[in-house]
Amino acid sequence: ALTIGIVGLPNVGKSTLFNALTKNDVLAANYPFATIEANEGVVGVPDPRLAKLAELYASQKVVPATVTFVDIAGIVRGASDGQGLGNKFLANIREADAICQVIRVFTDPNVVHVDGKVSPADDIETINTELILADLQTIDKALPRLQKEARMKKETAATVAAVEEAKKILDSGKTAFAARLDPEPLRELHLLTAKPFLYVFNVDEDELTNDALKDEMRALVAPAEAIFLDAKIEHELMELPDDEALELLQGMGQDESGLNQLARVGFETLGLQTYLTAGPKESRAWTIRKGATAPEAAGVIHTDFQRGFIKAEIVSFDDLVECGSVAEARSRGKARIEGKEYVMADGDVVDFRFNV
Ligand code: GDP
Repeated sequence: ALTIGIVGLPNVGKSTLFNALTKNDVLAANYPFATIEANEGVVGVPDPRLAKLAELYASQKVVPATVTFVDIAGIVRGASDGQGLGNKFLANIREADAICQVIRVFTDPNVVHVDGKVSPADDIETINTELILADLQTIDKALPRLQKEARMKKETAATVAAVEEAKKILDSGKTAFAARLDPEPLRELHLLTAKPFLYVFNVDEDELTNDALKDEMRALVAPAEAIFLDAKIEHELMELPDDEALELLQGMGQDESGLNQLARVGFETLGLQTYLTAGPKESRAWTIRKGATAPEAAGVIHTDFQRGFIKAEIVSFDDLVECGSVAEARSRGKARIEGKEYVMADGDVVDFRFNV
């Protein structure tokens, strides 16, 4: 599965957030044979459409899509020089498919800040500087080889141009992601800052509705997505029954937990989408990458489904709800038969036909 690495300076609330994430028992309930590493948290992606499907089909259970977070300890100033756990830290980030930075905004005087003051902008810069320095090392190592290769191979010239452009961006203190560089020609370098970023701002409870603060933080990290939560509260929410949790959230002017938002935004950031299946046994969201074709989608259920793919019968979620059943959708001409070339759309409710 694709993973999101959680990084941040010490004492910003990473462990608190991660513990709240792992309290979610979506994995144990639905994937009993999955093994999970101690530093991984697998959370369900909230999708209200599943409850609706389960109602239509009287499904025994609902299985959401999941997103996997990895707790990456050890960022310190100097990580890019291999200080402290620097090398291990960078290797762990390299394995992640997206980077989630946790940034401290909360002001608790009892919790020491490593740099002596709470400053989101400075913390973001500290982390980005380490990632940028690591990428510049990667580029300086690769560039002479690429330039030599480009003299023999024309295709490599385009890669060299892209890498030189990336070097300029990084030298100016910007990440490859923030500069929206095309990740394709840079792919073979596995640059850290070319990965998609998202930000969690760990704020005091009474700042959750402070729109001016949120706008200020969003401006710091655009085009990355920003999520605002209070990690301590998120931890408490996980211990409460759903109705009490909702009451607590509403009391703070929120209608969804920060962790739910994080799961949804994280899933999006990874470039993933879902399609749906429904029946009396279960209603379920399956994970595909955006742009996946119908046979690729079938392969997520079982590789045999992809190999023996014949066609897919698809009703959009909205049409299905309006018609009340697939049979009714068929009679109203809302059920489509799609073939091998079909690119899956968000909200497709699917029945695959295949040879075994
Ligand atoms: P980490 O080093 O980034 O993993 O940070 P921790 O999760 O261990 O948190 C460091 C300290 O800050 C702990 O004492 C937490 O209880 C506290 N803390 C974490 N999140 C919050 C928060 O949102 N508000 C307040 N006031 N304290 C927090």
